[in-house]
Amino acid sequence: MSLDPGPGVDAAQSQVSVGSGDVVRLLPQPRHVAVNTPSRRPVLLVALLVAAVLAGLLCGVAAGRGHGPWAGTLAGRWARPALPADAARAPLAVPLAAPSGSGGYRFLELEDDGSGTPVRWDPCRPIHYVIRPDGAPPGGLAAVRSAIARLEQVTGLRFTSDGTTDEAPRTGRPSMDRARYGDRWSPVLIAFTDPTEFPSMAGFAGLGGPESIGGNDPGERRYVTGVVLLNRENLAQIATWDDGSARVEAVVRHEFGHLAGLDHENDDDSLMNPRPDGTPADYAPGDLRGLAKLSGGPCFRDY
Ligand SMILES: [Zn+2]
Repeated sequence: MSLDPGPGVDAAQSQVSVGSGDVVRLLPQPRHVAVNTPSRRPVLLVALLVAAVLAGLLCGVAAGRGHGPWAGTLAGRWARPALPADAARAPLAVPLAAPSGSGGYRFLELEDDGSGTPVRWDPCRPIHYVIRPDGAPPGGLAAVRSAIARLEQVTGLRFTSDGTTDEAPRTGRPSMDRARYGDRWSPVLIAFTDPTEFPSMAGFAGLGGPESIGGNDPGERRYVTGVVLLNRENLAQIATWDDGSARVEAVVRHEFGHLAGLDHENDDDSLMNPRPDGTPADYAPGDLRGLAKLSGGPCFRDY
């Protein structure tokens, strides 16, 4: 995971107008940087602006795509864990059919074979995750459970809880952490945090995104880990509003949409819209079409 732009990434700060002329600082906009396959790419962190939530739901993309400060942290840049014992030879569940129509979605990352296929999670093995529940606001854990259940229903992906963790959010989170998690990819970290603990959270209600690893050949890039970080201070405030539980749920589902591989989308009714009109409570038809393209497909039979 990295919020810091790595070498070759433009670190210029962006400004965006919010509501009645407030100016909110966004983190650096994503830049595509040439990365040799099969290198590791950092977590794509996509942020939900706190001020924007207060004004409706406005998102800013904050990502460092490319080589970040983590680049030397892998124990050998080509390190790969063994194929997990719970990797099946067929997708674990059938995804929902995509709604009719077209478009209404964008992807965080495309395969590096020029096919236009989005990078996705392996549908044939469960996505392991850990939760650090410390400071969860009212309804926060329920919103996480609901978001996972909804994403499982839509995509056919399966999530497996590895329990709670005391792992704190940090930049440079390794994709493999043998000391903590053994010979496997780090499980997705779901954590409630705040700007005091994790300064990058300042100004955001949530930060979420996956991390991809390249395969042996072009077109085999896949997501292997990621984070969903939720601003416990901001969500605790939102939870007190009349429609607080729906808004907290929308924030969490939005971040899980990023974890699945969706980028921001400008359709008015999209849950992934950075400037939605109102507070979408669930994925819109366009979001579902995008999630359908992130679902199913062949298994990855290595690491
Ligand atoms: Zn977002």
